[in-house]
Amino acid sequence: MKQALTLLNPERYFIAFILFISYVGIGFIHIQQAHLSLGHLAVIWLPAGIGLLMALEIGPAAFILIFFASFTLNAPTYYYINTPNNAYPLITSLSVGIGTALIDVWQAHIATKAWQYFVTKHDRPPLQNPTDLPYFWGKICFIPALFSMTLTHILLSLASIISTQDWLENIQQMLMLIMGDTAGLFIIAPIYASWKSNVFKYRIRPAIPYFFALILIVTLGFLLYSYLLMLILPILLLIAIRFRLAGTSVALLIVFTFLMTGTTHHLGPFFSPNNPPLSFLNLQLFLFSIGLTLHYLALLQELLSHSHLQLETEVTLRTEALAAANQRLEELVTTDELTGVANRREWQRRCDEAIIYARRYQQPLSILLIDIDHFKNVNDQHGHLTGDLTLKELCRVCTAELRASDSFARWGGEEFVLLLPGTTQAEAILAGNKLRIAVENQALVEYHGHKIRITISVGVAMLEDNDSSLDHLLNRADQAMYAAKAAGRNQVQCAISSSTFNQ
Ligand code: GH3
Ligand code: MG
Ligand code: MG
Repeated sequence: MKQALTLLNPERYFIAFILFISYVGIGFIHIQQAHLSLGHLAVIWLPAGIGLLMALEIGPAAFILIFFASFTLNAPTYYYINTPNNAYPLITSLSVGIGTALIDVWQAHIATKAWQYFVTKHDRPPLQNPTDLPYFWGKICFIPALFSMTLTHILLSLASIISTQDWLENIQQMLMLIMGDTAGLFIIAPIYASWKSNVFKYRIRPAIPYFFALILIVTLGFLLYSYLLMLILPILLLIAIRFRLAGTSVALLIVFTFLMTGTTHHLGPFFSPNNPPLSFLNLQLFLFSIGLTLHYLALLQELLSHSHLQLETEVTLRTEALAAANQRLEELVTTDELTGVANRREWQRRCDEAIIYARRYQQPLSILLIDIDHFKNVNDQHGHLTGDLTLKELCRVCTAELRASDSFARWGGEEFVLLLPGTTQAEAILAGNKLRIAVENQALVEYHGHKIRITISVGVAMLEDNDSSLDHLLNRADQAMYAAKAAGRNQVQCAISSSTFNQ
């Protein structure tokens, strides 16, 4: 025992104390409330659920607490029932008290093992998915109660604490014990499961008005008109949908505490005047029917919203991935892979647009055709890779000199083009010279100790009315560029007017 108590984490002393008090207190209320002609057998034995909760929350030390709590509850009750027809009531009630306390510990142990088995197998606690329910109802609630309460019934019969010769009555008593404990586990375990899931208080607070509505309806049902009780069904349905397992489990606890209290006071539709023990069976039939349905609904709703959320996240992720892929695709289609500047197709598209605009608003537009001088030498002397680096270096220097409205692109090979909207030929010549000087002074590639410098020859052409197409304009710029080459390279030449050109 000492060893088991050392297993109890000091921080858990308070929880252990509260649970012990709840076990004894609620058990005492049940014994006081839930007895009709059948002796002190409770219709819903919530301490069975509290026992499971204790074992899950505080570990093995819980079994000692369950033993003492059960003994504290049962031994005096047996003594009280036993006194008239037993020669040694004290010895009998003490020994049967110990026996039933051990059985209660055993029950908590089986239920806990079933719970922990689920956790190990699924790597999560039960009661998160509708498919968990058969295991929960069967293995965690019913089987432990079936084993332990059958044994309890045999023990109580042997000790003549419950004594009846009528086999039907015996079966009824046994059923009552089994169902009572099953119901206790059935009501308490879902509260524990949802309490552990962190959403408990967010789900419970907004559900409080609904709980009051339930209490009001049950009270009116008992006091005024019992069929009013049917109204709890839609409210429970709403609770299951809106507040899931947390709301449903607390609502079931409230409803059955009130229904049990009313029925033990001979009120409501569940009370059977001719056969009072049947009242509790009626109540349990109702409890399990709506309990099972509501648990299922609550978890189904949880699953639905979870899937919905998952789907939304997936759609968002896919949309983002698609947008990124589209952007990448657009980059691939519009940019030159080596230098990162616009490619020929993109530049032509921009030019076509700019030409339409310039013609419509009668604005000047010029283009530059840029060609690296003796670039073949760079490749031949330093290799193709250095040639590539030189092309990138040229782009770096040129783009640094440009305005946002200018469009610089790689035309192909070591030729580049520049679109200058709103620019006259004279201004374009200035821009071309600016680029030429920048390239001459700044473009530098170092390779194996060699400093590679380049120059460019530039052909300038301004859009004229006679230019029938972009090709026409480009052709004139090309001629100008060749003129620059012929004149000695590293210079800017402008195109002959298209009217002259056409002649
Ligand atoms: P010019 O002054 O008359 O323009 O002489 P050039 O050597 O620059 O002219 P040419 O047209 O004879 O040579 C262009 C060279 O550019 C030929 C080709 O190997 C090279 N070139 C074209 N595209 C690339 C490329 O993407 N990378 C590299 N490294 N070289 C390229
Ligand atoms: Mg060339
Ligand atoms: Mg060249």
